[in-house]
Amino acid sequence: DASIAGTFGRVMGWADKYRTLKVRTNADTPADAKKARELGAEGIGLCRTEHMFFEADRIAAFREMICSDTVEERKAALAKIEPMQQGDFEALYEALEGNPVTIRFLDPPLHEFVPTEEEDIKKLADAQGKTVDQIKAIIASLHEFNPMMGHRGCRLAVTYPEIAEMQTKAIIKAAINVKKNHPDWTVKPEIMIPLVGDVKELKFVKKVVVETADAEIAAAGSDLSYEVGTMIEIPRAALTADDIAKEADFFCFGTNDLTQMTYGFSRDDAGKFLGAYYDAKIFESDPFAKLDQTGVGKLMKMAIDLGKPVNSKLHCGICGEHGGDPTSVEFCHEIGLDYVSCSPFRVPIARLAAAQAAIKNK
Ligand code: PEP
Ligand code: MG
Repeated sequence: DASIAGTFGRVMGWADKYRTLKVRTNADTPADAKKARELGAEGIGLCRTEHMFFEADRIAAFREMICSDTVEERKAALAKIEPMQQGDFEALYEALEGNPVTIRFLDPPLHEFVPTEEEDIKKLADAQGKTVDQIKAIIASLHEFNPMMGHRGCRLAVTYPEIAEMQTKAIIKAAINVKKNHPDWTVKPEIMIPLVGDVKELKFVKKVVVETADAEIAAAGSDLSYEVGTMIEIPRAALTADDIAKEADFFCFGTNDLTQMTYGFSRDDAGKFLGAYYDAKIFESDPFAKLDQTGVGKLMKMAIDLGKPVNSKLHCGICGEHGGDPTSVEFCHEIGLDYVSCSPFRVPIARLAAAQAAIKNK
């Protein structure tokens, strides 16, 4: 009711007066983005674009792309998705009203997109002019024993630069349109490359982004500017953050994967044995929920300490689940992150935790 809303607003206002850490949200739909804005989010820290690929029309085109034989065919399939993605991004920029929006390139392993039902395989075969057996052979060739450490993230953009090209076009065209409609807003896309472990991966994908984005901006006669940054979610990225910072406008810590890869625990399966770890007093809490400050956190601190001296403009955030956990937020404040990004309903908790961290560390 109104009095609760009033009290909530007053308490949040006090928190905002003290905190220095910005609070963004992880959102990939305008509805989530709007909800998060109502709860005080100051931007989108992570838009997972893969969520936009699973709608029927897009998944069909993406499957065609996977099963194509040539770059031209792949580009033609992706061209069907581009205007839909552009619409997705325009809606997000509109919902954010000039606040920052970080859009991450496609991340999940390829095999998640291939059809499993006979009927869908047959449909794909017909669309591609191939036999069912040919499609099944392509699907079999994509099988991975350990997909979360496999063909995903920036590795997809290295194998298929045309995916990065299509997503860049959609991001930039959307931003140009929204900027035109709202000249008073700051519309500056932050393009984020996932799963980078070597600066050369980032350089490779960034080249595709810059060439594509600059061509679109020039063709539109626009003065749009944009940033290209990276997730830090592989231990090697943290360990070589000085090299990576030379190529990145921002770092965003993907502590879900960073926890997985630092411990060597599968984020999907660790729950099956963590109970025994609590009983044995090896762990007090789930490292996927509460940031492991001594190991994973040390890598984050190392990355910031290595990165900032070589790139004074580098801005850093976190978008793993830990971004909405109070003690993890306090740690993020202490190591000098600029923002935390969490799911919409965790935004108020993050604002409070950020204020408490600022007061405690005064
Ligand atoms: C992460 O790894 O922490 C992250 C935010 O990305 P995702 O959960 O999509 O892998
Ligand atoms: Mg990740």
